[in-house]
Amino acid sequence: MKWKLKLKKIFGRIAFLRSLRFRLFVIFLVVGIVPSVFMRYGIMENYEEHAIALRTTTVQTQLRILANHLITYNYLQDNSSEVVGAELDMLSNLYEGRVLIIGGNFKVVKDTYAISEGKIIISEEVIRSFGGESLSNYDREHGFIEMTTPITETVKVMTDAGEVEQSVVRGVMLTSISSDSIMTTKEVLNRKALILEALMIMAIIAIAIVLSNLLTRPFGRVTQAISAIKAGYTDESISVPDYLETEHIMTAFNQLLGRMKVLDKSRQEFVSNVSHELKTPMASIKVLSDSLISQPDAPVEMYREFMGDIAAEIDRENRIITDLLSLVKMDKTVADLNISTVNMNELTELILKRLRPIARKKDIEIVFESIRPVTAEVDEVKMSLIISNLVENAIKYNKDHGSVKVTLDADHQMFSLEVSDTGIGMPEEALEHIYERFYRVDKSHSREIGGTGLGLAITRSAVLMHRGQITVKSLLDEGTTFLVKVPLIHIKTV
Ligand code: ADP
Repeated sequence: MKWKLKLKKIFGRIAFLRSLRFRLFVIFLVVGIVPSVFMRYGIMENYEEHAIALRTTTVQTQLRILANHLITYNYLQDNSSEVVGAELDMLSNLYEGRVLIIGGNFKVVKDTYAISEGKIIISEEVIRSFGGESLSNYDREHGFIEMTTPITETVKVMTDAGEVEQSVVRGVMLTSISSDSIMTTKEVLNRKALILEALMIMAIIAIAIVLSNLLTRPFGRVTQAISAIKAGYTDESISVPDYLETEHIMTAFNQLLGRMKVLDKSRQEFVSNVSHELKTPMASIKVLSDSLISQPDAPVEMYREFMGDIAAEIDRENRIITDLLSLVKMDKTVADLNISTVNMNELTELILKRLRPIARKKDIEIVFESIRPVTAEVDEVKMSLIISNLVENAIKYNKDHGSVKVTLDADHQMFSLEVSDTGIGMPEEALEHIYERFYRVDKSHSREIGGTGLGLAITRSAVLMHRGQITVKSLLDEGTTFLVKVPLIHIKTV
């Protein structure tokens, strides 16, 4: 385990070792070099085996011919034959060998090294050869091949079936020849093979460098393409189609880019909307105060009226700023919720109590139907914002003498708050936009009644922070119903 950690540390430190290019290079190198090394080794071994076998059969054939001559010249009894002597010399010179001719009584008749003549040699191989077998044994360590060849004579024997030819072993030749020349050839070959292999390894390294560079180039192109647009988003999407993988990376990146463009656009829109909305009350204040300044003897009533208007515009400006601040707060995460156990019936009652005087001005009746007691784990401030925004809208966009009905209910998982009014309603196509910041169905009407266009955006954010849902149904001129559903229990996410 320890060395694994160490290796990881080293890898971590040398960034190059972690690159795909380096890993591909190593793979190519291993795949290229290992087989070539094994091949050389295999070929050399095979060569040795083959050469030894060939040398053995060649010498054995010659030995068999020699054996015939030994019989012909009766060499076992009289080793003075010059022909056989010459043949023996040639054989031992040619193969750097030693030949011992052993007679029927295991006595050495002739030793080309003239050391063992007259001695008795009884070995397992010699005995087996007297049985008619030709044997050979390669002693690699000492570098020689040992062979035993029977010297057989064909004699005619009379049997019941008539005259039959029979082979009789008269003696055995014990030959040992050097395998040095084979080993020398092998060494020369090996040296040549090594040179060839070194050249091949160099070629493989070159190929591995080129290939690993070529194969990883598309990833460089991906980085380049991404870096190129880091400075600013261009409209065109980028593509590196070399591999399916790079194409996938680029597709994902283009999607991300698309999302960023949308976000950027909506941010720009929001900023321009905010400045526009903030400027409008300012412009009104400016017009009102300018007209007062330009009339030095304006009547007090006019002053009073204009100052009242100015105060109203300042209130509006204040409301927009307050709403904007609430919206910014909603942009935070669920973790910023200040959760406590809240009695929803009491909370709703409290808010409705505060709003009733406003409703009374338009003679609007507010009905609260509490189907069952509801206690929920919610952020009380945000929940109050949700209820008051929806009920305020139901009053604002209502007709005179209309009504607002608030229903609170719950099942075992969620509680629901329904706010329905008998107001002006909204056209179908407006419903998908009402949660957008600064969106109003009727801009001038909304402004007239003090709307900022932010209320529903705030409401929706607050509901989503509680992992709830908000839905709306509306019929133009008949009324609107908002339904909010929020889980009773808040589940914390880490
Ligand atoms: P505002 O401050 O203008 O009320 P909101 O975000 O609360 O902004 O609402 C957005 C728009 O949705 C309003 O301008 C209004 O046109 C429409 N709307 C909201 N609630 C109702 C409702 N209960 N009945 C009719 N229209 C509504």
